[in-house]
Amino acid sequence: METTVKRIIILGAGTAGVSAAKKLHSLGYENEIVLISDEQGLPYDRPPLSKELLLGKMSPGDITQISNADILRMKIQYLTDRHVQSINTINQEISFSAHAPMHYDRLIIATGSRARKLDIASQPNDIYYLRTIEDSERITTKLKSSRHIAIIGGGWIGLELAAAARTLGVKVTLLEAAPQLCGRSVNNDIATRIQEIHQSEGVYIRLESSVENIERVDDNSWKLHLDNGKKVHCDMVVAGIGTLPNTALAKASGIDVDNGIVVDPDFKTSAPHVYAAGDVTNFYHCSYRRSIRLESYVNAQTQGDLAARACMGESVKYTEIPWFWSDQYEHNFQILGQVTGDAEGIDRGPNSDKGFLTLYLNDDRVVGAIALNQGREIRHIKKLIQSEKNVSAVKLRDLSLTLNSFL
Ligand SMILES: Cc1cc2nc3c(=O)[nH]c(=O)nc-3n(C[C@H](O)[C@H](O)[C@H](O)COP(=O)(O)OP(=O)(O)OC[C@H]3O[C@@H](n4cnc5c(N)ncnc54)[C@H](O)[C@@H]3O)c2cc1C
Repeated sequence: METTVKRIIILGAGTAGVSAAKKLHSLGYENEIVLISDEQGLPYDRPPLSKELLLGKMSPGDITQISNADILRMKIQYLTDRHVQSINTINQEISFSAHAPMHYDRLIIATGSRARKLDIASQPNDIYYLRTIEDSERITTKLKSSRHIAIIGGGWIGLELAAAARTLGVKVTLLEAAPQLCGRSVNNDIATRIQEIHQSEGVYIRLESSVENIERVDDNSWKLHLDNGKKVHCDMVVAGIGTLPNTALAKASGIDVDNGIVVDPDFKTSAPHVYAAGDVTNFYHCSYRRSIRLESYVNAQTQGDLAARACMGESVKYTEIPWFWSDQYEHNFQILGQVTGDAEGIDRGPNSDKGFLTLYLNDDRVVGAIALNQGREIRHIKKLIQSEKNVSAVKLRDLSLTLNSFL
């Protein structure tokens, strides 16, 4: 690495940012590592915010990503409550509203994503969204005094919220604009199975139902007006309608943005000495031969690690297969790879509402899998996808052949 690299700034202290900071330290980088967050407190994991934290199975102290002791030991300058306002890619400088600008020799942008807000004209300001630890704490408190919650959005966050609310004994109506749940990540067959699980737990699911207007009835109750003329009465409203990448800063500084910050295989952006990692990137995935943007924990961790290596002058390669998990009631879902509409689903193993494993084949190649309570098979399937080997559907259906035997 050039001796002129005296300061590496990591902008954003989520999973990608923390992973980058730790990697720089472990690679022996001894100059300044500055990790900047616009949040307060220690960096934390987001997945438990919609699961264990809501259910009281974990507390904020259990989900920190790095301890104060490690921050000191790794000599990371961790700056909290600092919103970066602009990046000057010519002078290599970032600026804040109330602090002096800082020069960087390398910059890693890891600004993540934010909850998408409802596009409704008259929107009360006490609708809940879930992205941060404060959001999760507010929802936990409100759930304790609620009897009927309306959840807008039938994606993973909405479903995890529904599961937590039902587990706590709260009545749930879940509203989804599309004709199926989780439309971006699973096909109709899997969506139907997920829907059945929630219905058996007492969630009232309304598909093809868009909220047109939210009316406050009194201090503690709401009336949601749906586009099909129906109404839902409730005492709490949470929206989980997807996320948007935090790209405004990069865009304003002239860095290429196209559904995320565009990065090359070395996680370099279009600006010199500026890298990006995590939810915020749009990157080329070798296995799928197209550019994608992922919102997943493992992806953020891997990209943070690789961006740090690239910063140190290593040539890197992203080979991770998209992987996401979700916990709902006693169930664990694992979603591996990218499953397009024309992929053929092949069931392996048990097939019930207690557990199933479906692999997806495209042109005789395994491209993805969805498992319910069958997580132990996931690592073999990951290797199979990475191998890009030809696999016949007939053989894959044969349960006497182990997944390992296809490798
Ligand atoms: C409730 C919830 C549950 C989830 N569950 C799962 C799950 O079960 N499985 C899974 O795989 N993934 C899950 N995810 C997704 C996963 O947590 C994210 O993909 C991951 O956190 C992305 O990490 P990141 O570092 O890219 O971004 P983030 O975690 O979003 O971190 C970015 C940080 O940058 C800060 N920032 C942004 N702009 C600025 C600025 N201008 N100045 C200073 N700081 C700034 C942000 O405030 C934030 O702290 C979940 C996410 C949420 C919200």
